[in-house]
Amino acid sequence: MTDTMTLGSQALADAEPTSFWTDQADAPTPGPATDGPITADLVIVGGGFTGLWTAWRALDRDPSLDVVILEAEYVGYGASGRNGGFVSHSLTHGLAHGRSLWPDDLAALLAEGKRNLEDLVAQVRGAGIECDLQESGKSTVAVQGWQVDALAAAAELATEYGENLTIVSGEAMRADVRSPTYLAGLRDLDGTVMVDPARLAWGMAEHLRSRGVRILENSPVTAIERDGAGIRLSVASHRVTAHQVVIATAAYPSPLRRLRAYIMPLYDHALMTEPLSASQLESIGWRDRQGMTDAGNQFHYYRLSADDRILWGGWDANYYRGGRVDASLEQRGDSHALLASHFFDTFPQLEGLSFTHRWAGPIDSTARFTAAYGTAYGGRVAYAAGHTGLGVGASRFSADVALDLLSGEPTSRTRYGIVRRKPFPIPPEPIRNPIVQYTRAKTFEADRNDGRRGAWLKLLDTLGVGFNS
Ligand SMILES: Cc1cc2nc3c(=O)[nH]c(=O)nc-3n(C[C@H](O)[C@H](O)[C@H](O)COP(=O)(O)OP(=O)(O)OC[C@H]3O[C@@H](n4cnc5c(N)ncnc54)[C@H](O)[C@@H]3O)c2cc1C
Repeated sequence: MTDTMTLGSQALADAEPTSFWTDQADAPTPGPATDGPITADLVIVGGGFTGLWTAWRALDRDPSLDVVILEAEYVGYGASGRNGGFVSHSLTHGLAHGRSLWPDDLAALLAEGKRNLEDLVAQVRGAGIECDLQESGKSTVAVQGWQVDALAAAAELATEYGENLTIVSGEAMRADVRSPTYLAGLRDLDGTVMVDPARLAWGMAEHLRSRGVRILENSPVTAIERDGAGIRLSVASHRVTAHQVVIATAAYPSPLRRLRAYIMPLYDHALMTEPLSASQLESIGWRDRQGMTDAGNQFHYYRLSADDRILWGGWDANYYRGGRVDASLEQRGDSHALLASHFFDTFPQLEGLSFTHRWAGPIDSTARFTAAYGTAYGGRVAYAAGHTGLGVGASRFSADVALDLLSGEPTSRTRYGIVRRKPFPIPPEPIRNPIVQYTRAKTFEADRNDGRRGAWLKLLDTLGVGFNS
């Protein structure tokens, strides 16, 4: 039998170096760019899910509002067009993390997150957006002995908070999705829905245009300043003047410099296979088509696409000195090769299957794994960024938070500690890079050491700080 590193490299030989989701024949051509002075009530910087939901929710509040989105590249260019398409109800990066950082608010945040997901599904369906939305839930699988206990602890915590998660034995899990690596599973039927993320972003943009939003693509904002009672943004030599502004620039260097202190870009990698044949599909089962993830500190996430491919992503989350974000970092051969080999470890029966796409995208990590919110320029600018690998659903909540902050009126959302308090600033270079790399090495070590978190990770846990996706 060929070893899985070789199988993985062979399977990657012809993969296109781009996100499968956006590499579609019917992808929309980008809309117009900024080509003159513009004024608007609300200008949103960034055309990913945070920016798109901000426009959507602003119009829900006031349909007469004049809204402009300025996007540096095209809608869905960033993480929103590259992700796994898991739309989670969690606003706290999981229940255990929520309990350690915001124990007093956790029950309310859980209810808020469920409402957010329900409303997201209702709004996407109501607008007729076709994005392969499936309410198929998620299974988390244990692939090392210590993870079996971790899943049991997660199930217990979930029960405490009234969540409906079921522990599944290794045998039952392997009967559901046929991988020899599974030792146990945790089935969550309603905490996650699955989407095709690019089609969601494109559909949202089309819907917003139909409601009068001007979406200007190829329009990078390079400067932001006060302009009398409003705000002036620069896009090349053009001026954009707004009454209010929301910054939704995620992992990219933000024109609002203060935001950069909270955001650490981590490159997350993904692969997409060719479509499986009927017999290949039969060999893995997976009838519920739920999202899948394994339970280590370094983890994989995987799912089926509408045309029966498997998206396989995660594991490496690479930080580059100075917080570099650059398209040249998206094709790291060793990260893709390692991922590919893990795929064949998990599904050896799919030997011979090829990957058609390989890509990576910058995750906007904060030191507490949830977004940073705040205002600037006397409350005329609000920002929401830092969803750390779990922003497809939470971006809608964040959009509401940003609009609440601009309104200046306290709401149930702005009272939560997760909104009021900022994450720890990420230490600046040159100390940032060694800290991040050391933490990553210790995280790998914990996985190799039956999940035991050594002194450094325990110290970070005590401080409520982390450097991961
Ligand atoms: C590989 C990968 C897998 C992931 N998987 C999942 C998942 O399964 N589930 C989940 O919940 N989350 C996942 N995430 C995270 C999720 O994709 C993000 O949290 C979410 O898409 C964030 O949306 P956003 O709008 O904040 O950011 P983005 O989609 O990155 O949008 C920011 C936009 O701002 C634009 N921009 C930046 N600077 C400027 C400027 N100066 N002027 C104008 N425009 C600017 C960028 O071009 C970009 O389009 C994943 C991320 C990656 C990279």
